[in-house]
Amino acid sequence: MEPIYEGKAKRLFETDNPNELRMEFKNDATAFDGKKKASFDDKGRLNAAISNLIYGMLEERGVPTHFVKALSDTEVIVKKVDILMIEVIIRNVAAGSFCRRTGTDEGWEFSEPIVEFSIKDDELGDPLINEAYIRELKLATADEVAHLKKAALEVNDILIEFFQKAGLRLVDFKLEFGRLAEDPSVIVLADEISPDGCRLWDLKTGEKMDKDRFRRDLGGVMESYAEVLKRATHAIENRD
Ligand code: ADP
Ligand code: UDP
Repeated sequence: MEPIYEGKAKRLFETDNPNELRMEFKNDATAFDGKKKASFDDKGRLNAAISNLIYGMLEERGVPTHFVKALSDTEVIVKKVDILMIEVIIRNVAAGSFCRRTGTDEGWEFSEPIVEFSIKDDELGDPLINEAYIRELKLATADEVAHLKKAALEVNDILIEFFQKAGLRLVDFKLEFGRLAEDPSVIVLADEISPDGCRLWDLKTGEKMDKDRFRRDLGGVMESYAEVLKRATHAIENRD
């Protein structure tokens, strides 16, 4: 069966249900808007497991998401959405492009989380935009933007606490949202939440446990992802 879409890290397939898709996690890894490429054994399984665990938890906490059910180690059934061409980035601690743009060191904590938007377009290098750009480019309505900000901060609160229980500091992460194919008036959280799109640092040692290990050639990429899965599983099993 041919995918309806093949991206850098996942493939999407149609299902018997016109409102659902099968999303398959690949072993491929990319960074710097697709310019750096590699493949890691077991990456698809690890990211699918981490993402499913987080989505299951978010659903339980009342966050509307695309998650329907896990299908296999690397495949998940999701509600089909029309993805907003906006990447929503939430930052708790200075790192990455924030530090590059502002000429500051990484690792200092913000007084409040920062929510920022960029255009989801690798060829343009995912440029940072503001709400006026979103309005003029018609990427989302004002109501939708208000919803994105509120939902992003809610997810941040839940994830900070969750990762803390897993002995991890949630530095920053990227979210994607989409309009449900079944009812475009409803926006849900979509795509994945995994160490590919989150910066996670060991709470005690500060060690990087996410895709920065690949971006910066630090080694032990999959060992870190496996450790994140182990700790996240433990945090879920031992929650109050
Ligand atoms: P990219 O497109 O950046 O290379 P991926 O390899 O992760 O990224 O491809 C997955 C694609 O599927 C992304 O473009 C993402 O926006 C899209 N997507 C994620 N969840 C859904 C969904 N529920 N319905 C439709 N598209 C989705
Ligand atoms: N991120 C992502 N996809 C992108 C851009 C960013 O998943 O296309 C994630 C990234 O993993 C990090 C956060 O969003 O956790 C903030 O990324 P940043 O803007 O600092 O970009 P980078 O330093 O990776 O270029």
